[in-house]
Amino acid sequence: MTPEELVKKIQEEDIKLVDVRFVDLLGTWQHFTVPAHVITEEVFEEGLGFDGSSIRGWKSINESDMLVIPDAATAFVDPFTEVNTLNIICDIVDPITKEPYQRHPRAIAKKAEEYLKSTGIADIAFFGPELEFFIFDDVRFDVKSNTSYYSVDSIEGIWNSGKDEDPNLGYKIRHKEGYFPVPPADTLQDLRSEIVLELEKAGIEVEAHHHEVATAGQAEIDIKYAPLLQQADNVMKYKYLAKNVASMYGKTITFMPKPLAGDNGTGMHTHQSLWKDGKPLFAGNGYAGLSEIGLYYIGGILKHGKALAAFTNPTTISYKRLIPGFEAPINLAYSSRNRSAAIRIPMYSPSPKAKRIEVRFPDPTANPYLAFTAMLMAGLDGIINKIDPGEPLDKNIYDLPPEELARVNKMPASLEEALNELEKDYEFLLRGDVFTEDLIKTWIDYKRENEIKYVNSIPHPAEFYLYFDV
Ligand code: GLU
Ligand code: MG
Ligand code: MG
Repeated sequence: MTPEELVKKIQEEDIKLVDVRFVDLLGTWQHFTVPAHVITEEVFEEGLGFDGSSIRGWKSINESDMLVIPDAATAFVDPFTEVNTLNIICDIVDPITKEPYQRHPRAIAKKAEEYLKSTGIADIAFFGPELEFFIFDDVRFDVKSNTSYYSVDSIEGIWNSGKDEDPNLGYKIRHKEGYFPVPPADTLQDLRSEIVLELEKAGIEVEAHHHEVATAGQAEIDIKYAPLLQQADNVMKYKYLAKNVASMYGKTITFMPKPLAGDNGTGMHTHQSLWKDGKPLFAGNGYAGLSEIGLYYIGGILKHGKALAAFTNPTTISYKRLIPGFEAPINLAYSSRNRSAAIRIPMYSPSPKAKRIEVRFPDPTANPYLAFTAMLMAGLDGIINKIDPGEPLDKNIYDLPPEELARVNKMPASLEEALNELEKDYEFLLRGDVFTEDLIKTWIDYKRENEIKYVNSIPHPAEFYLYFDV
């Protein structure tokens, strides 16, 4: 939709307010709202002013005045507001230079798409993220008292949940058997369906929705592949719509990678492929029907996997998911069959158009603009430097003998380790000025100072369990 068409839509559909929103460094939407008459065609050139000094990770800028420039193509009517409101995703520019603000993740994703075209390797990068999430009835956590740092009670469908059910009619999902019996065991059908309808109304095509493996309340809704920038926008819309539909049902959604100990975590497997002149570049005659380019792309992702984790698995709790036994990858390897590998080559469809790779380590706490861009840059580094991905691992990695397993590269075991790896390995991100050193440094510092230090300073209930009586 062009600005002209959008201004017309605002009038025709009697939109009263326009909500302008942008992603912050960490991947949360921030917003402010203007009366609809403020949105003229000029606003799409000249922008709207706001004070950017209180946005997380953006503080060090001297000039706190900033402009938001709405991107008309991203507009969707808000299904939750009482007053007819249109939401638009925005870019951020400096009011003096009119240059895109370099710490705005969307600016980085835009540069990545331009850079990709400039390489001549491909003209489009498709991303297909599979977001999972948990739906809870009630969440309690109390960081300060140390007594119960995090507890979730009355989780949908768990036996002995502590939830007062009277009468208790059974049909509870057994441990790790959430994938995927029909209702009444699956109590979340309508909620997921409702989210799907809202996604499609907002212009996001859905492929399927289902209950996920975890015992209670885990869901997955898969959306159709789309180009990098558009797909990152879609992820933001997805989280917004899913969380707010759940609120209307009196429930709450979390995208945290490991909310429940001892059960499956929450991933965001990300399917990726490159195309040029309308032709898929990953289909060929190599391993699992991949082209040389496809294999080099894998080589790049595996080579930079540890550094990538700082963006694809960017929270301290991300690493509580990346442990054996829960379908989450630990080893930096690839395979066509093996879901325990970090990269899988799906074999569902023989069509060259469907040929893609599935990177399985990301989780949905990732900022999608930064995570998708970082993976693309790693893949391109693989293509540019012809990085051989090595032999595929077609055995179940969890069952490999220890000597063989020791030779396989591992994902970082903590956010701290991932940030240290990124600090050593970020040249590939700087090509075409896609990432800036300032952004990478800001990211590392922010995560160390505000997240790792904070989490490390708080006694954990597991420490009470282990050490109370020493
Ligand atoms: N929930 C699993 C993970 O943490 C993935 C399950 C699946 O979709 O295969 O990656
Ligand atoms: Mg899944
Ligand atoms: Mg998958």
